[in-house]
Amino acid sequence: VIEIRDIVRDFQLGQETVHVLKGIDLDIERGDYVAIMGPSGSGKSTLMNLLGCLDTPTSGSYNLNGKDVSKMSDDELADIRNKEIGFVFQTFNLLPRTTALDNVALPMVYAGASKKERVARAEEVLNDVGLADRMDHRPNQLSGGQRQRVAVGRALVNKPSIILADEPTGNLDSKTGYEIMNLFDEIHKAGNTVIMVTHEEDIAAHAKRVIRLRDGIIESDTRN
Ligand code: ATP
Ligand code: MG
Repeated sequence: VIEIRDIVRDFQLGQETVHVLKGIDLDIERGDYVAIMGPSGSGKSTLMNLLGCLDTPTSGSYNLNGKDVSKMSDDELADIRNKEIGFVFQTFNLLPRTTALDNVALPMVYAGASKKERVARAEEVLNDVGLADRMDHRPNQLSGGQRQRVAVGRALVNKPSIILADEPTGNLDSKTGYEIMNLFDEIHKAGNTVIMVTHEEDIAAHAKRVIRLRDGIIESDTRN
């Protein structure tokens, strides 16, 4: 699904150019389960944001499902983000005044699904993530692990080609993090392509492939 060639990402900080990603080549096949590791500041989130089409590279190409994302307009990127990519963040990023059901259904609103379709699919997904009895709760009425389950449900709702998660267990205690990882394992077993960032070896051990970044380049790429 993913083919990245010589991606460079520089940021301009005043007069200074900061070289963050310095030439990344990466292929990821459908159904793979990948952990991205590396020291703080090595460029993991920068790479995830590029993969998730939240950002575009300074140079290099990014093919997602055979389409060159690095050349797309903002509108095309927004469409890809909504349909092809499910993104889970460390801080959940849910709408605070909105129920679990409506948070999960939101990407379907942008995709133009009817209310009936949205409710049916969001119920199905909430059931899959273990929140059948929490559909009408708002985020502040849910635990951290439950909030992250809602975020995972939202990431899955449009059946994207890739699920990206940037430190999905970073704000959770280890037991709750473990439960979220079991959920990612199930999502992988169902045939999804999962790419996550983590600092913890125990979490990375869930993946089938571990990529280590250092100073903006891939230092190693191994299979578990
Ligand atoms: P962490 O483990 O702490 O989350 P990371 O590997 O995810 O780290 P990134 O967030 O990708 O690291 O950042 C890599 C480097 O790029 C950092 O030095 C950061 O300061 C720099 N950087 C990221 N975004 C920008 C930006 N918008 N402008 C300038 N520099 C940036
Ligand atoms: Mg980061």
